[in-house]
Amino acid sequence: MKSIEPNRPISVQEQALLRAALERAPRAPEASALLSTVGSLQVVGQCECGCGSISFASVAPHQHPLIVADAIAESAHGSVGIIVRAVLSHIVELELYALSAEPSEGWPTPGSVRPWEAGHAAQPTLQADGPASGGPAA
Ligand SMILES: [Zn+2]
Repeated sequence: MKSIEPNRPISVQEQALLRAALERAPRAPEASALLSTVGSLQVVGQCECGCGSISFASVAPHQHPLIVADAIAESAHGSVGIIVRAVLSHIVELELYALSAEPSEGWPTPGSVRPWEAGHAAQPTLQADGPASGGPAA
């Protein structure tokens, strides 16, 4: 993560994605309580690779973060994994990572956010590796 100077408020699109992940793919009981903090988060770090991952100001940034949401969503460039980490009652990181071969330069659509387990099972096959199961190739 590259530090952002000065810090900036979380953007509207970042808020929407973070809320969708916390609402639809919670991983800890704290997730629902954290929803009310989303709008006031300050972005202090941003990944330079273009993935969109950001970190937030926190009173306790160096304690062990807890994963509070684990989701999958779709961008124009393919599937994107989303992990939200928190320390105590503070969201500290929104991590985005590409699941397809292409870099995830497109911002995921909040409406496509779903729990990791559901999304992974339903993920369409991106690349055919051979005959489909259930019969020989035509
Ligand atoms: Zn990155």
